Amino acid sequence: MPSLLLLAGDGIGPEIMSATKRVIDYLNTKGAGFETTEGLVGGAAFDAVGTPYPQDTVDKAEAADAVLFACVGGPKWDEIKEYEMRPEAGLLGLRKHFELFANIRPAISYPALADASSLKREVVEGLDIVILRELTGGVYFGEPKTITDIGNGQKRAIDTQVYDTYEIERIAKAAFELARARRGKVTSMEKRNVMKSGLLWREVVEQTHKQGYEDVTLDHMLADAGAMQLVRDPKQFDVVVTDNLFGDMLSDIAAQLTGSLGMLPSASLGAVDPKTGRRRALYEPVHGSAPDIAGKGIANPIAMIASLGMALKYSFGMNKEADALDAAIAGALDEGARTADIAAGGPTVDTVGMTDAILKQLDLRL
Ligand code: NAD
Repeated sequence: MPSLLLLAGDGIGPEIMSATKRVIDYLNTKGAGFETTEGLVGGAAFDAVGTPYPQDTVDKAEAADAVLFACVGGPKWDEIKEYEMRPEAGLLGLRKHFELFANIRPAISYPALADASSLKREVVEGLDIVILRELTGGVYFGEPKTITDIGNGQKRAIDTQVYDTYEIERIAKAAFELARARRGKVTSMEKRNVMKSGLLWREVVEQTHKQGYEDVTLDHMLADAGAMQLVRDPKQFDVVVTDNLFGDMLSDIAAQLTGSLGMLPSASLGAVDPKTGRRRALYEPVHGSAPDIAGKGIANPIAMIASLGMALKYSFGMNKEADALDAAIAGALDEGARTADIAAGGPTVDTVGMTDAILKQLDLRL
């Protein structure tokens, strides 16, 4: 039986996760056979058991085929100073524990929403690009990571950007393989003009390209120029591969291209476990816990539901169901279903209403 661990986390997490559970239940009526368990993570886990990253959750994630993660964080926990106790430590801990080094973030412009983008329709219509972000290395994890008192009322903060060859090589391979299944183009982004890690990044990506991936077109861009090109002419890209920090920012820019953070799913993949043959995987929306709308029942569930769609494809090989789910989301949008974040002032449905519209469309397709 395929198994999923559901981690609802904080803020709008429980609302969008319960929407997604309805989709899983529906798929089970069609024979998908998903077994689900639930666990605590983030601020909710901190409140319940005193840590945002409980061992029980790690054990459940070990036992599951894949993890569906909603979002963590919020003002309630902003005062926590200890890094390991902050809600984000739950997510970063899982990413690190399972070595989920490849974060795939597609940015697709649904035709019905091309006008919801802050860019002109012709710039985004038909957009279908992927940001591949390195997820387990770089400045978010590098040591030293400290704030020290250096006297005279001054403090010094240090974060360390570190990349080893193997980390760049495996993400570059993932980018070339992904591009082969798409339009065959990879754009690698770094800051080699000012960062040593950028120099090594480019060198290793080039070397990897020469090791059997020359059928894929490879371009390089400085990450700041890349950010500019992403808003100027995003359709020039196919797969953008970049490090953890730049990927964090560039994928948020990509989110804005498609109109709302509430639309963007992601997959974080690790290596295949030689014992089980399973690829470690965690699926999550790109957005955060949206504390400003939490508890109101108005969150857009599409990014979370589309994250389930990515799980169907990448963890379970259920391509028919995954394609049907993508088509059902597009269908619900075509029919006019809009949560407030994508309504541009027009009529809205709430989280449940959007889920109803997607399930209705899914039922037409499965
Ligand atoms: P956010 O993504 O939570 O929200 C940004 C804006 O987008 C808000 O106006 C929000 O209402 C809106 N939004 C986001 N998702 C939406 C959805 N599904 N439907 C409708 N509107 C949506 O980012 P933020 O405000 O910078 O961060 C809020 C909290 O989330 C912080 O504590 C932050 O640390 C945390 N965070 C968590 C993750 C994660 O769990 N992966 C990622 C980013 C931020």
